[in-house]
Amino acid sequence: MKVAERIQAIPPYLFAQIDRKIAEAKAAGVDVISFGIGDPDRPTPAHIVAELARAAEDPANHRYPSYEGLPAFRRAVADWYARRFGVTLDPDREVISLIGSKEGIAHISLCYVDPGDINLVPDPGYPVYALGTIFAGGEPYKIPLRAEKGFLPDFSAIPSDVARRAKLLFLNYPNNPTGAVADLKFFTEAVEFARQYDLVICHDAAYTEIAFDGYQPPSFLQAPGAREVGIEFHSLSKTYNMTGWRLGWACGNSEVIEALGRLKTNIDSGVFQAIQYAGIAALQGPDEPVRTMCRVYQERRDVLVQGLRDLGCPVAPPKATIYVWAPVPAGHTSTSFTELLLERTGIVVTPGIGYGEGGEGFVRFSLCLEVERIKTAVERMRRAGIRW
Ligand SMILES: *Cc1c(COP(=O)(O)O)cnc(C)c1O
Repeated sequence: MKVAERIQAIPPYLFAQIDRKIAEAKAAGVDVISFGIGDPDRPTPAHIVAELARAAEDPANHRYPSYEGLPAFRRAVADWYARRFGVTLDPDREVISLIGSKEGIAHISLCYVDPGDINLVPDPGYPVYALGTIFAGGEPYKIPLRAEKGFLPDFSAIPSDVARRAKLLFLNYPNNPTGAVADLKFFTEAVEFARQYDLVICHDAAYTEIAFDGYQPPSFLQAPGAREVGIEFHSLSKTYNMTGWRLGWACGNSEVIEALGRLKTNIDSGVFQAIQYAGIAALQGPDEPVRTMCRVYQERRDVLVQGLRDLGCPVAPPKATIYVWAPVPAGHTSTSFTELLLERTGIVVTPGIGYGEGGEGFVRFSLCLEVERIKTAVERMRRAGIRW
């Protein structure tokens, strides 16, 4: 049974070796402290769970949902965009529900990429942008995100013959894995670049609500002209601790939303309506649970960043996301340092190389664990003599 080339083309799973070492450490009785996964550890707020329970009882929700999402869900998304970003969306033409935003991010290339086309994908970056491109027969062209540039891509460094062959430009701010943020000036430059080369911008906005120190990340759709050239992917996963529920959406340019809808109509049959009702409850508030989570992550960030700095690590506190992106000590690669941490301290981090070559020299700490565990981790590093 020979698998297709697109399956063979999936890059080797870089975390496989580390996963094996974690399993070995656990089997040997090590109390493993994991900063590995970006999956919120706290439960979904109770009022959202209650709305799922109510809606699940209603037989009207037991049938096939509408493909593009319940009108009430799309309306709730539009209302939320108006309230949060001052962006007006037409819920009928400019919003579509997704089975988690990853689903839409993986599928959008099938709408725009023919074999031989290029997509511009950030490096380091969320792996789904490149994999979706490969599945559509396209070629990911990595645009480097460098610390000196605030982990923003330099559009002027992209060769014009590459840009001319490119179809989609993926962006993601606040950024996973670097924790970097972008302002409207940057998004405006991106819109100009997309206009120049007739690109569709796909902005992944999964982390706009997880921000610190009073900072409020913007939406890409706030940039002048953004709606003419692109869409934004959004998700309830990180904002409301709902990764397991699989509910997100895409919004923005109506032609792109229509193309994605046409594809999805032929692949999936939408999101369980009871989950969409729970999503409406989430988007309509109260906002207090979101503010509470931001305070929780901010305290964890502060404890971790201070702890790493005390060990000599030149790391800056991120303004947003659930990640701290730290350089590795001199003489290490991201993989060798990840292995050293696990062997000497039982601490798990993600090696930057797992997000692309541009991630080499860094490791990612996720903030999805209690502050006491973070303190214990820092103390273990100190005792093990780990220094930068
Ligand atoms: C978590 C995450 C998502 C959200 O995925 P869902 O499928 O909505 O759960 C999207 N993009 C990035 C960069 C993420 O880290």
